[in-house]
Amino acid sequence: MKIHEYQAKELMGAYGIPVPSGTLALTADEAYEAAKNIGPCVIKAQIHSGGRGKGGGVKFAKTPEEAREIAEKMIGMTLVTKQTGAEGKVVHKVLVTEANDIKKEYYLSVTVDNANACLVIIGSGEGGTEIEEVSEKHPELIVTEKVSVYQGYHAYNGYEVARKMGIPAALTKDFVKILGNMVRMMMDKDCSLIEINPLVETADGKLLALDAKVNFDDSGLVRHPELEELRDIDEEDPKEYKASLYDLNYISLFGNIGCLVNGAGLAMATMDTINKFGGSPANFLDLGGSTTEDKVAAALEILMTDPHVEVIMINIFGGIVKCDLIASGIVSACGKLGLKVPMIVRLEGTNVDAGKKILAESGLNIIPAKDLADAAHKAVEAAKGGAK
Ligand code: GDP
Ligand code: MG
Repeated sequence: MKIHEYQAKELMGAYGIPVPSGTLALTADEAYEAAKNIGPCVIKAQIHSGGRGKGGGVKFAKTPEEAREIAEKMIGMTLVTKQTGAEGKVVHKVLVTEANDIKKEYYLSVTVDNANACLVIIGSGEGGTEIEEVSEKHPELIVTEKVSVYQGYHAYNGYEVARKMGIPAALTKDFVKILGNMVRMMMDKDCSLIEINPLVETADGKLLALDAKVNFDDSGLVRHPELEELRDIDEEDPKEYKASLYDLNYISLFGNIGCLVNGAGLAMATMDTINKFGGSPANFLDLGGSTTEDKVAAALEILMTDPHVEVIMINIFGGIVKCDLIASGIVSACGKLGLKVPMIVRLEGTNVDAGKKILAESGLNIIPAKDLADAAHKAVEAAKGGAK
């Protein structure tokens, strides 16, 4: 789960990480009022995406009037950044925050190193909006330090990173403390990323987190009911959000063959087989082990209402899941939304005959398949406009 910068800063503030003061504004008038209290300020578009500065989502205002003018234009605009893709994201709110004079910008983050099963600190003395370019052209300027989840963070980890990043001696103690607090928050809240870019040295010689990005591991959310209120549905892929309500493992992809499968392994095998026959899956969707007719219907609705899906391929190997239940879910979703694209169905396993009977008697124009390869082949052909 991702959250907004203003929420990330609030959380980081509670963990003793120095952040500039700011106020969230939903309207231009609210931005005006906030700026009256703050003085010279920065207006920052709140979207779940970085690269806002370069895309026109970070603007300075010297007066409250100017803040109102900027917020007026920013709220409601579609902000396109390197990270949003061409379609961009609509700005619904802005953060009005004190403007600080910057002496130097650093990059600092803590994330999970999956390969080494530990946390990793990533830092650079060349932080700011060009960090991607720095890492590409000058990888030697990127510092990394592994932190064991068993041994935890020690000050020497921080001193090592500070030295390599070129943090001035006078600020090193504060830096080590900030980093320690980032790691503590990371572990406490099951974050998958805490990123500060830029962490700045201000003109008056203090360290300050001017930007903040915090992501949480979805699998850890069950342990943190307090984080639920930070969720902003406006920012999420509506398909992925609906899937999460039904406890479906769904990830949107770029192809045109919508897949509905039970079991993560079978879902991956299905996607591989589609690729092997020259097709491209529109999604990964694992119904899970214990499913219900409602869940099947919801999963199909996600596929059927996705404009990118031109063919639907259902691949079910019934074990605990019963094929007749899947078939009833299919009939129910098709009855509700109408079957407008070719649908290839491969059913095998528990109650397969009952399942096939339900589909046959439904009168739906379903293309049956005898096995995975047959189904994938037919789906790819249908996607090319071949089979019907
Ligand atoms: P991002 O582009 O989405 O990562 O947004 P940031 O919050 O990182 O802002 C982009 C850039 O704007 C930063 O790297 C800074 O150079 C600049 N910036 C942001 N806030 C301030 C501020 O308070 N004072 C100054 N002088 N620059 C700022
Ligand atoms: Mg930034």
